[in-house]
Amino acid sequence: MSPLTIAWSMCAAASAMMGLSHVLLWFKERRRSVYLLSSVMAFSAAASALLELALMRADDTARYGTLLQWENLTIYLLIISMVWFVYLHFGTARRWLAVAITVLWTIAIGINFTSPMSLVYSEITELRMMKTFWGETFTLAIGEPNPWKALADAASLLILVYALDGSFRAWRGGTREEAAAVGGGIVVFILLAGAHTPLVDAGVVATPYMISFGFLAIVFGMTYVLVSRAFSASRYARQVQADEKRWRLLLENVQLLVVGLDRGGLVNYVNPHALRLLGYERGDILGRPWIDIAVPQAERPAAWDTFRNLLQGGNLPSFENTVLGKTGEALHVRWSQVLLYDVDGASGGTLSIGEDLTPRIRAEHEARRERDALAHVTRVSAMGELVASLAHELNQPLTAMLSNAQAAQRFLATDPPELGEVRDILHDLVKDNQRASDVIRRLRALLTKEPPAFAAVDLCRLARDVSQLLRGDSMIRKIDVAVECPSEPALAHGDTIQLQQVLLNLLLNAFDAVAHLPADRRRITVGISRRRDAWEISVRDQGIGLAPDGLTEVFEPFFSTKRGGMGMGLSIARSIVESHDGRLWAENNSDRGATFCLTLPVFGALDPREAAA
Ligand code: ADP
Repeated sequence: MSPLTIAWSMCAAASAMMGLSHVLLWFKERRRSVYLLSSVMAFSAAASALLELALMRADDTARYGTLLQWENLTIYLLIISMVWFVYLHFGTARRWLAVAITVLWTIAIGINFTSPMSLVYSEITELRMMKTFWGETFTLAIGEPNPWKALADAASLLILVYALDGSFRAWRGGTREEAAAVGGGIVVFILLAGAHTPLVDAGVVATPYMISFGFLAIVFGMTYVLVSRAFSASRYARQVQADEKRWRLLLENVQLLVVGLDRGGLVNYVNPHALRLLGYERGDILGRPWIDIAVPQAERPAAWDTFRNLLQGGNLPSFENTVLGKTGEALHVRWSQVLLYDVDGASGGTLSIGEDLTPRIRAEHEARRERDALAHVTRVSAMGELVASLAHELNQPLTAMLSNAQAAQRFLATDPPELGEVRDILHDLVKDNQRASDVIRRLRALLTKEPPAFAAVDLCRLARDVSQLLRGDSMIRKIDVAVECPSEPALAHGDTIQLQQVLLNLLLNAFDAVAHLPADRRRITVGISRRRDAWEISVRDQGIGLAPDGLTEVFEPFFSTKRGGMGMGLSIARSIVESHDGRLWAENNSDRGATFCLTLPVFGALDPREAAA
């Protein structure tokens, strides 16, 4: 067999193989038209190799001319597909250059088929039999060069600039390996083919055309890229598998509910923790619509709306809802969600991760219940302290009523009875009775064990009620309590009984603090003033004041400096105020004594948590 035939056939086979593999790649992934372009490029190179072989064997000028025309067509196809391949593949090449090359070569190929001896020659004068250095003969044409060939040569120059520029920009953009392999292959091809072919045409070198051999540089570059891509794809696949395993392990063991839904809302994943909490077996729930199974009926339409909105790319705020277990037991769960995408980038469903808040909510309820119970106990115990003074307080109107009633009896016994006096007495009786029942009303209110009810509380009325309740005590202990109210109504948002308890506690403490002072300095001022969105109540005394550590210590449970003191009053008062979204703190006055201050939200002002949301 002739070495020329072997070499050119092998070259054709190599290009055809590349064409075949790229056409198969395109079949697998139709969206990637670059593969179609690269396969056209490779098949054209294969055809070009075979035509070059035929040219070597041509024995008359007309046939040589026709073969050259077809050879030029394969080169045209090769170059155009290569130029647009570079354009699409790197995305960095200049479009106008690609268009210019396409236009130049299209004109050139038109001329190629209208000139009888192709684009290369306007006339072939003779066919010469040449000899290779190993003695094999091949044909080469001698003739008049076609001036239009300059078009193709100019285009080759442009291709060089285009490929260098596109690859360089791709290199700078980060796809270095590909830019070097593919761009380098193309540049080598253009240099080889573009420099060697004109030399053959001009009769300077006496070898067959070797354009298809130049293309082997591209075959090599592209095969290198394909192999390295296959290698990184398999490494990536192993990495993905390892990641998948790690994530799955995490989802399977995490103490959170994890539920995956497909686009139709059917469960496609549920982790063991969720199954445990809900009491389901995996088989009970996989493939079934989550919302219809686990969401209470009344909430289902809204849940479906949210789910569909999510799939359409809506936002993914975390939210809380009720989830029903198999036996109908309700859990309160806070969910965060992610949208999952399939390989084509379309949304493929959701993965929701939920925290079961039920135990925490239960504990909070329990703590609140216990705090309320404790608050009641301390209230009752504070009342115990007041019994003596309340007795005194009640004694006054009762004594007055008794003496008034006796006087009325006497007035009725006269003849004629002094009815005018009796009427006045009855009027006083009603007033005294009112006073006594007011004392009892206030006392009873404090002793009730009702759950807290938040509403508008008139702070001035509250302060006056509490100071009235303590009137007996303050009179016995000769303490002057002044309530200073603002001109506008001071309405706060809160529970009256609990707030009375706080104020009662602060006043009783202040009573103790001023107990040792001379009577004229036993003065306590309750001030109520507005601080932007809050009311501030201050209880100011001239007493012993607090040690520097005491400013925070006094709020600790069981902290007391009093003999027989429980030390719970201020700690409970603070928790009550905080449950009202307020603050309670202590300050020492600049002169003497201490001031206890608390803030409460103004009734009707936006809840701070709502405002933040
Ligand atoms: P208790 O009254 O049973 O001691 P509290 O929690 O009400 O419990 O008060 C804790 C301590 O805070 C008191 O024992 C006292 O030492 C201190 N205290 C409270 N109010 C005042 C005040 N107005 N002036 C000085 N010390 C105070």
